[in-house]
This record gives sequence, structure tokens and C-alpha cells, in this order.
Amino acid sequence: MLEQALQKHFGYTSFRTGQKEVIEQLLAGRDVIALLPTGMGKSMCYQLPAYLLDGPVLIVSPLLSLMQDQVDQLKQFGEKRVVALNSFLTAEQKRYALHFLHQYRFIFASPEMLMQPQVKERLRAIRLGLIVADEAHCISQWGFDFRPDYLRLGEIIPKHNKPPILALSATATQTVLQDIERYLHMQSPFYFLHSVNRPNIHLAKRFFQQKDDKINWILEHVQTTDGPGIIYTQSRSKTETLSMALLERGIAAAAYHAGKEAEDRQFIQQQFLVGKLEWIVATNAFGMGVHKGDIRQVIHEFMPANIANYMQEIGRAGRDGQPAVATLLYADGDEQFSQFIVTEDLPKMQHIEHYLANGDHPMRMLDAGEISETAFRVLHYWMQQESSEAVQKRLQQMEMDKYKAVHEMLQIVQATDCMRERLVNYFGQQLAEKTPNCCQNCGLVFEEILSAKQTVEEPEKILTWQERLQRILLSSLR
Ligand SMILES: [Zn+2]
Repeated sequence: MLEQALQKHFGYTSFRTGQKEVIEQLLAGRDVIALLPTGMGKSMCYQLPAYLLDGPVLIVSPLLSLMQDQVDQLKQFGEKRVVALNSFLTAEQKRYALHFLHQYRFIFASPEMLMQPQVKERLRAIRLGLIVADEAHCISQWGFDFRPDYLRLGEIIPKHNKPPILALSATATQTVLQDIERYLHMQSPFYFLHSVNRPNIHLAKRFFQQKDDKINWILEHVQTTDGPGIIYTQSRSKTETLSMALLERGIAAAAYHAGKEAEDRQFIQQQFLVGKLEWIVATNAFGMGVHKGDIRQVIHEFMPANIANYMQEIGRAGRDGQPAVATLLYADGDEQFSQFIVTEDLPKMQHIEHYLANGDHPMRMLDAGEISETAFRVLHYWMQQESSEAVQKRLQQMEMDKYKAVHEMLQIVQATDCMRERLVNYFGQQLAEKTPNCCQNCGLVFEEILSAKQTVEEPEKILTWQERLQRILLSSLR
């Protein structure tokens, strides 16, 4: 039955792991939380039900690029009744889309868009067939201290005739799963939890005394091993200097961070996808919604802020199932800078006082440049939810939680037992079996996993690359 529908609408003859179980439960009207690795057909869990349920499917998506990617995917299957409500729409387009909202089969939107009064009102008038939270860990990961509208998603969930709700993610701890259940108003959901272990990603780590030694190691390593790969680092300026240093050595590399123009980011991502760029040097702004199957390496020049980020970032490697290596670099004292970074954007105690002092016009502190936009958004949300004493306690707790998360990551770095087992346990799961070359602590022979670079780029090519990059830079200045 379901297989026939799958073939009819998508041309596939069989389901992949988890898809059928999830879809059956949704069709029976049950809420579902599905933990499936990215690249294993997570989207099919809502794509097929859209053809079998009455009413549009609403997909809450964290990023524009991710939304666009999924819209394109559906259009490739010949689906025209799909819309993404986002800031790219003109006022006229948005009016039109909202007016005909009930006629779409798929509606994509960010949490912020859903909280706009006219969107909320329009959604209330429609009977949705299914509500989906894609990358649902964002509720927990971003809701409390970055994008509070994630915590308000319950406001768009109807109290009567509630459609089934589906939460999709690749990585969620027990705490995150609880947050998802709570903030999506789920009622005894069905769980499908695939293992978070990715056996074909081999886990390497390297220790250094000086921070500069890490850069030298990367330059040497990238010149002698094959990509494509991603190098994650923590600052925008470092992505630029490192990518330039790689370019000078004949490696087709580019920097990617949120400070670049959208057009440039899109161009760089596209060049990476088609294989014209071998390496991307990025902040953690890069990766979500990037579907490149053959990424062979992910290098962390800097320790990620928490284990969830680390898992998501290394999870971008080896989606084609072929061997890939994730290398974590650590220099003495790196965690101190991590602690500074993770709490930098949180509202501070004095902000609460200023907020109260501004009375009915708290926005003034934003206009006066006393607080960052993110910090204000977070503070404003919590000040409306609870007393200033409670907010004060909450901010202290947030800071402590972030320090704790850095410390948990540091333990992964410093541990002398199996890294993989620790990571899997962190997500409340058990490791079924270990593969050869499991991790640095179990023993890792790099040469058995990745081939050494056979050829070095010709000098002409380097010039071409510099010219091309020059052109990108020039066009963005114009
Ligand atoms: Zn191991």
C-alpha cells in the first residue's frame, strides 16, 4: 500500500530505514520524534504523508538555504504546490501566498515568520494535515538563548483537531528530546531513534603546545591528503587568513562565514558542491542544508562549543558511506577561549537593570547600542515570561550550562578511551560494534583510510583561482 504510494509520487520502490515506521504512525494520527542521520531520507517522512493526508503540511525550518534546498527538491519531483514564506518574498508575493495558503501542499517557514501576526492568523484559519519541525534540536539548541521564537511554536499548534506533529533531527540528547516534546505540545509521541554513530567517519585528534602549530599542521596536512573537506574554526578573520594561506599553496580553498554577502556565500557553497573548490574554511555558520555526499575530511582547528555541534559538524563528512576522517585539533588552553566565546552573546546582569529602567520602551537600549540584537531578543523574550529575579537566575544558569558543555567537549578531547563510545553514550545510546580504525584512542592508521594526494596543482591553475577569487571580491564591492 504505502510502497505503491511511494512509487507513484516519488518513483522509489522501497523505503529506507525508519521511513515506513514513521509514516505509518503519522497516518494513524500519532505524534512522532524521528532521529535519522542526514542524507538518509529524513524528508520523505513528511513528503509522502503530504499526499495521503488532508490539508497542507507545514514545515518549520531553521534556515533559508535549507528551505530553498527542500523546495527545489520537491519541484524536481514535479510538485508545484509548494511555497516558502521567507524574507525574499515581496509584500505582494507574500499577500498572494497567504491568501492561497490553504491550496499549497507544502508550506515552509521559519519560526520567526510563523510568529508574525498576519501569518499566525492565516494559519489559524487553515486545517493543516501535518506540522513538521525540521532540525528539531534547534528548539532546544537555539530556543533559550538565540532564537526564542522556537519556544513559541506551541502557539501555532491548534488546541482542537490537532494534526499529528513530526520532529526530525539527526542529533538529539535525552534533554533535547524532552524539550522537543514539551515545546511542540506532543502527546506520548512515537520514537524512532536511529543510532547517532556514523561508522565510516574515523575520529582523529592531534595535540599541540602552541596555537600556531595547529595552522602549520593544517597547511601541511591539506597539501598532502585529499579533500573535499571542511575546516571549522571559531573566528571570521581566521577563516580568511587560513583560506588565503591555502590558496597560496595551490589549494582551491575559500572562506565562509555569516559576515559575507549572501550572494558570495551562495557562490562559494555552489563551487564547493560542484567540486571546483576543494576546501571550505568556515565558522559554524556553514553546513546545514549542504548536501554534498563526498566530503572526505572535516578538520576542527578549534574545539567546538559543545558535543552536539561537534557531532553535527563531523556528520557532514562521508554521507556517501565511503570512509571519511574527522580531525580535532587542540592546543593547551583552547577551552578558555571557548568559554569566553560561548557566553559572549548572552545578556548580562546589568542589561536586566537597564531593561527595567527603560520602562515601556526597552527597545531604547538596543537603539543606544548597549546590547547586541541577539542578546536583546533573548532578554526581551524572558522578561515577558517571568520576573526579573527569575530571569537573573536563568541567565546565570545559561552561563553555567554553557561552561559545562565546553567542559564535556574537553573531556572528549582529553579522554584516553574510545572517543566513539563516549560520543554515542552522550546521546544516551550504546555502541553496537566498533569498526577498524575507529578513533585515535583505539588506533588509527590514516593511510588506510584516505589516499595521499597524487598530484599537486599546476601553477597556472593557482593563478586562475586567484583571479576568480579576485573577481568574486570585486563584484561584491560593486
Ligand atoms: Zn574508538
